Amino acid sequence: MSDLKYQRVLLKISGEGFCGTGGFGIDSTEINVIADQIAELVRAGAQVGIVSGAGNLIRGATLSQQAGLNRATADQMGMLATVINSIALQDTLESKGVATRVMSAIQMSAICEPFIRGRAIRHLEKGRVIILAGGTGNPFFTTDTCASLRAAEIQADVIIKATKVDGVYDSDPMKNPDAKMFERLSFVEVLENDLRVMDHSAISMCRENNIDIVVCNLMKPGSVARVLAGEKLGTVISNQ
Ligand code: UDP
Repeated sequence: MSDLKYQRVLLKISGEGFCGTGGFGIDSTEINVIADQIAELVRAGAQVGIVSGAGNLIRGATLSQQAGLNRATADQMGMLATVINSIALQDTLESKGVATRVMSAIQMSAICEPFIRGRAIRHLEKGRVIILAGGTGNPFFTTDTCASLRAAEIQADVIIKATKVDGVYDSDPMKNPDAKMFERLSFVEVLENDLRVMDHSAISMCRENNIDIVVCNLMKPGSVARVLAGEKLGTVISNQ
C-alpha cells in the first residue's frame, strides 16, 4: 500500500489534451506529456484508469451539423475516435514501459478488450493502467459522463479532470487575466452557477456517489502526482 491520499484514480483527459489548444489530431509532444504524468502516477503506486475524450478528432454534435449526419451516427463516430486516442496513448505508455490495457464499451476484439468491470478492477490490482475507450457506448452522452460512470463502477477514490488551465475559474483565464481560481467548490455550487467543469449529468453522478473531482493542469509536469499525494493544487469539487 502506498501512502497516497488517493489510491485509485480515474483520470479524464479531453481530446484537446492530445493536441495544441483548438488544434486537430495527435501531437507527439502533448501525448508524451500525458504519458509521462501517467507513468509518474504508476511509479508512485497509484491504480490508474483513464477516460479519453475525442474533441481533437470528432465531436458528434459539431460533425452532425457540418456534415448533415444523423446525430446518433456522428456520436458513434465520436466514440470510435476515443478508441483512436486510447490506442495512441497505450502505444506511448507501453513505449515507456507502462503496462496498459485498452477496454472499449464498443466491442472491437481485433484492437482491444471489451470493458468488463471485474476484469478492469483486476487489471488495476495488477498495476496495469486501464484506458476505458468508446465512451459509454451510447450516443447523446459525453466522455465526462463516461468518466463519472466508470469512476463509480471501478470505485475510484477521485476523478482528476486534467485540463490546460490550473483549475476552475470565475471567468475564462485565457481571455481574462484577472480571472479568479476557486480552491474548493461544492457540487451544488457547480450546478447552480453552471460552472464549466464537467457536464451536469457527470457532476450529478459524482454528487450522488460521493466521488470528489479535482481539476488541475495536465501540461504542468508532476501536477497530477502532486494531487494524488495530497497537495493542495487546482480546484477540489466535493459534497462538503
Ligand atoms: N460520445 C458519445 N457517447 C459517449 C461519449 C462520447 O456519443 O458516451 C461521442 C460524442 O459525439 C462526443 C465525442 O464522442 O462529442 C467525443 O467525446 P467528448 O466530446 O466528450 O470529448 P472531449 O470534449 O472530452 O474531448
